[in-house]
Amino acid sequence: MSGRPRDDAPDYKKEKKRVDGRKMDELRPLSIKVGVLPNADGSAYLEWGQNKVYAAVFGPREALPKHTQNPMKAVMKVTYRMATFSVPERKQPRPNRRDMEISKVLGEALDKAVFTEQFPNTEIAVFVEVVDSNAGSRVACLTAASCALANAGIPMRDLVAATGIGKAFGELIVDLNKEEEDAPDAVDIPIAIMPNTGEIVLLQMDGLLTKEEWAKLAPMGIKACKAVYEVQKKALQEKFPISELSEANVEAEVAGKDAPAKTESKVVPAKEAKTAPAKADKKEDKKADKAKKVKK
Ligand code: ADP
Repeated sequence: MSGRPRDDAPDYKKEKKRVDGRKMDELRPLSIKVGVLPNADGSAYLEWGQNKVYAAVFGPREALPKHTQNPMKAVMKVTYRMATFSVPERKQPRPNRRDMEISKVLGEALDKAVFTEQFPNTEIAVFVEVVDSNAGSRVACLTAASCALANAGIPMRDLVAATGIGKAFGELIVDLNKEEEDAPDAVDIPIAIMPNTGEIVLLQMDGLLTKEEWAKLAPMGIKACKAVYEVQKKALQEKFPISELSEANVEAEVAGKDAPAKTESKVVPAKEAKTAPAKADKKEDKKADKAKKVKK
């Protein structure tokens, strides 16, 4: 149901900005942290506008009961849940049809990214919990889940980056909020890609668009997914920092050249990496002071 009566509905074409002040192609603020749940093999916490989501990964581990095993690949098992307090009206705690549908489509999307063929007879269990929501929770969960998989050290072709795109109040827009999803002319399209290959791994559609509208909207979606991808990479780099020299090693490896001397390529923890140059400067200053005193 629409949050506003029709005569009061905004007109995005005229107003040139959205109900929350965003531009048409602007994402809500997004932040991700990985490795937040010590009991899981991999985890991530994501905030995207009002959406707050935890993702936890266990495995690969032996798939049980045995009849669920696939001798060719790991089984990707995703469980999507919304907390009872995550929506304005209390959500029934037991899983509903929507929860089951989202679990299924998220599993299919992640299955395409993971090298599941490397882990026959196992299962990779992914749990995503929405603790607060305001439209776009499935794409928030997918984005968090792929970071949690990477955090678990599970080999992947690429991260999966997702966003919502669509139409509301007469304009094509990116990352719809709840008010926009409930607009009378709303079209809601969750989209997820693997940015390195450009492959689309999730595409659903609620509503109708013309071909021309889709031709305009699809590139907006890809661009937005790539922006999400940057935030995902940054979150992983914060957890697993690599020094410039190790980066040079990787680049040399890719280019097939000799890597720089190994002794120099020390991985510097994030905190140290940030403070190291400052400390070094202070040491240098002290040395210079001492030298001055000796000269005097
Ligand atoms: P998505 O969250 O991926 O956009 P939907 O379009 O199905 O998925 O849902 C849109 C939004 O509706 C959710 O993000 C959530 O804020 C809200 N919602 C979902 N289920 C319920 C519910 N049972 N009660 C109230 N609001 C809900």
